[in-house]
Parts: sequence; structure tokens; C-alpha cells
Amino acid sequence: MLTDAQRILSEVFGYDQFRSPQDQIIDGLNCGRDALVIMPTGGGKSMCYQIPSIVREGVGVIVSPLIALMQDQVSALRLLGVEAAFLNSTLEFDQQRATEDAIRDSRLQMLYIAPERLIQPRTIALLKSCKISLFAIDEAHCVSQWGHDFRSDYLQLDSVLNQFPQVPRVALTATADERTRQDIIERLHLQQADHYICGFDRPNIQYRIAQKQTAKQQLLAFIKRDHPRDAGIVYCMSRKRVDSTAAWLAQQGYKALPYHAGLPVQTRAANQQRFLREDGVIIVATIAFGMGIDKPDVRFVAHLDLPKSVEAYYQETGRAGRDGASATAWMVYGLQDVINMRQMMAASNGNEEFKRVESMRLDAMLGLCEISSCRRQVLLRYFGEEAEPCGNCDNCLTPPVVWDGSLAAQKALSCVYRTGQRFGANHVIDVLLGKESDKISQYGHSQLSTFGIGRELKDKEWRSVFRQLVARGLLVVDVDSWGALKLAASCRSVLRGEEEISLRRDPVTKQDGTRKTRR
Ligand code: ADP
Ligand code: ZN
Repeated sequence: MLTDAQRILSEVFGYDQFRSPQDQIIDGLNCGRDALVIMPTGGGKSMCYQIPSIVREGVGVIVSPLIALMQDQVSALRLLGVEAAFLNSTLEFDQQRATEDAIRDSRLQMLYIAPERLIQPRTIALLKSCKISLFAIDEAHCVSQWGHDFRSDYLQLDSVLNQFPQVPRVALTATADERTRQDIIERLHLQQADHYICGFDRPNIQYRIAQKQTAKQQLLAFIKRDHPRDAGIVYCMSRKRVDSTAAWLAQQGYKALPYHAGLPVQTRAANQQRFLREDGVIIVATIAFGMGIDKPDVRFVAHLDLPKSVEAYYQETGRAGRDGASATAWMVYGLQDVINMRQMMAASNGNEEFKRVESMRLDAMLGLCEISSCRRQVLLRYFGEEAEPCGNCDNCLTPPVVWDGSLAAQKALSCVYRTGQRFGANHVIDVLLGKESDKISQYGHSQLSTFGIGRELKDKEWRSVFRQLVARGLLVVDVDSWGALKLAASCRSVLRGEEEISLRRDPVTKQDGTRKTRR
């Protein structure tokens, strides 16, 4: 015999089966128990609260910070015949009135609401006047300052929810490092809740990370070769780079559209709509784009700049291949990314502890970039899962060549030391190569014992050495003095020749689209 939940799954949503553990989560909520759901993007979190909202008496209240998406979700539900509505700052006065009337008359099955709206006394009074079937707190990581998307309104949710002690609550997120998880449990009082922590592997996504050379050309070669007519997302750090990259891809004949917070609201909405509705649109965006975007057939996610943490990387790349068909997560990064990122972190107005955590997160991300074994293993380990080498990442498919970089590392570190730990990689490399630059004569660096001791490697190869030394924490980028490199305490054993340093040899051609394309 079909349960109510199964009947609704097939009759309303048109699916035949629950994905595990959707059914258990739904059963628990239907019985009035609380739940914490940590499920990767695309796993099917919405169903976990939508079905109980329909099955149970009363209105399901769904808290979401993603105002832009409420409209879409509500329209989609209405098309399926579900009585859904939303309350946020975009509504006209009479629309708002109509929704409030529907709540009072118990006509709604689901109400999507922005957190800042829910915590208003007026809204609380309104909700007290009717029956509530459940509270769903979507994007629950927003409650944590350790998460990448803290929202202060989320801190007040608990005290609102406590005014409805009979109503089960479910918190959902795709972000799940241990610290964020603990914060969610504490701040939303989920100690007694059922915890569902789902597998994080996305086997259909192929992970590829290469060294940045000519970023745009590399991107073009990648798209041309692997995804010539596919929909994809290209992430850049700055708005300026979003605009220039989108314009450039468009010139190359691709349907590329920009998306960032600096664009007029209408342009943003129009570009998002085209991405969702047309085939083969590439959206070039800052991280402002994509939270909660439900487009199943995104075939690639490309990063032209380094994400600031493994969570961010996982979440952003997770927007590829939600339909389960193969997809690519492609990224290029270079030393300058690390320097930019550290500078941004230093300039942010968080406290010292916050900055320390951010810095540790970045280190983990760098570790993922520089690893020469399976990337998926490292990624999953970060989320507490053990796995075998995957066979579907660049390192598994083309194992990187490693070389004994001990001597090169010693030279690099000594040269940083001899130049007084006051210069960036460019200058130190010039000294190693014995170049005659103005800066070198200005500082008299041709007199140093390390001048010209590195001629056996090319400029590019030294760059790779420095990048890897920074990534491993042997060199530290001093953001207070324009990215000067300093020695870390851990580099002593390397300098004394007591530690072997095995470095990745960066591929010079092919594989990651580093080939120059003729135009
Ligand atoms: P999340 O919020 O976890 O990122 P969604 O709730 O948006 O994921 O679901 C992702 C996609 O999977 C949606 O297109 C959704 O309709 C689909 N989906 C969810 N549950 C099922 C199911 N049991 N069977 C088939 N498709 C499902
Ligand atoms: Zn692998």
C-alpha cells in the first residue's frame, strides 16, 4: 500500500521513488520530529519539506535567504497544483495582503519567507493565528559565522521558532564541515533532532585543476574541446573580470552572459532566465550567482579564480551535472590568486579568530589544488568520507609527473632570505635567474650569493616552484607588505637539506587546454 508521501511524490511531483534518505526524513517530520539534513546540492532537499507540508495539516513555513529564487519555486509549485506563496520585500502591497489573507484563511500549504520578514513581530502574530505544519530552515549554514554565508537574521530564528514548540523544524544545507554543523545544531536547537548526513560524492563530475597561464585562452580551449554547445557557469572573482570574460566569450561566438551584483536587477533577472530556459547558455558570474539554482543540465563549472575554501569549491562545482550525466569541474589557478585571496582576507573586517579560520580554509583549498593524488579522495576526506581513487579526475586520468624539488626549494627559500623577505615572487625569481632589472641594480641584488643560481629552471618553472612552496605553507605571503614572501618556521628542515620536497611538474601543453589556439 502506498503511503501518503509516496502518493504525493508520484501524483504531484511525478517521480516514482524516493531517493534515500528522503523517505526517512519525511516520515520523521510527519511524525512531528525535528531533523537536520546535510545533503549535497542537487540531492533533493526540497522534497524533504515540501511533501510533509502537503501531507500535514497547516502551512509549511520555509525560511530562505534566496529572495530571487522564491518566485521561481513558488511558480513551479503552483504549476503542480500546490497552494504556495511567498513573503519578501519584492512584493507589492496588495500581493502581500492577498498572501496574508490566504494564511489567515488556512488556504496555503507552503509559505516561503525571507528571514528578515519572519522575525518581524507582525509576521509572528500572523503565524500564531493559523496552524503551521512545519518550519524548514533552508541554507541553514547561514546561521554560522564559520560558514561562508553568514546572515545575522538567522541568529534570531531560534527564538521565533521557540514560540511554536509543537511545530517540527527541519534545517537543511549542503555545507557541512564539522564546525558549521555544530553551529547549526546549537543555534537552531537541533540536539534532539534526527541527523541525516548524506554522501558527498558526485561521481559524474570530473574534477580538473590546472596552473593558470593565459586564463581566457585556456578557458576557451576547454569549452571548445569538451563542451562546445553546453550550458555552463564560469566563476570569476571580480565584477570587472566577469564583464570582460563574458564579452570576450560572446565575441568568440558563445552565448555568454554576465551576472553579478553590480548589474541592474532587470539585467540580472533576464540573464538568469535565459540561462535557465535556453540551451547552451554560458553564464559568467561572481559567486553572487547560483545558490539554489535548479538547472539540472549544467555541463560544466569553470573557475578562473580560486574559491576561498573547499566548501565554496564543492558548492560551486556541485551546480554541474545535477541530472546525473557527466559534467566537468574545471579550474585554473596561479600564485597571484593566492596573494589576492590573502589580501582580501586581511582587508576583511572580521576579528583575528575569524581571519585565522579563513586562512586555514584557504590552505585546505590550496592543498586540493596542489595534490598529486586523487582529487576526489581529498575532497571527500574534507567532508569526513574515505574513498578509493576515483578514476575520474585529472590526477587519476593523467597522473602528474613529480620531481625532486629539494634543491630548487632550497635555492628559492635562500633567495627569499637573502633578499630580506621583502619582495614578491617576481623579483626573487629575477634574482635567481640572474636578470639585470632596474630593481635588481637599485637594491644591489646582483651582489647576492643567490644571484643567478637558478638558471637551470625557466621563469615559468620557478613560478610553479614558488606557488607550490606557498601552497605547502613553506613560504608565507605577507599581505601587509604587498605580497612579500617570508619564510615560514617549517622551512628550516628544507633549508638544512633534511627534508625532501617532491613537486608537481606542471604540464606545459594539452590536457587542460593550455594549448594556444590559433585565431
Ligand atoms: P537541493 O535543494 O538538494 O540542491 P533539489 O531539491 O533542488 O536539490 O532537487 C534537485 C533535483 O532533483 C530537482 O530537479 C528535483 O526535482 C529532483 N528530485 C528530487 N527528489 C527526487 C526524486 N525522489 N526522484 C527524482 N527526482 C528528484
Ligand atoms: Zn581521482
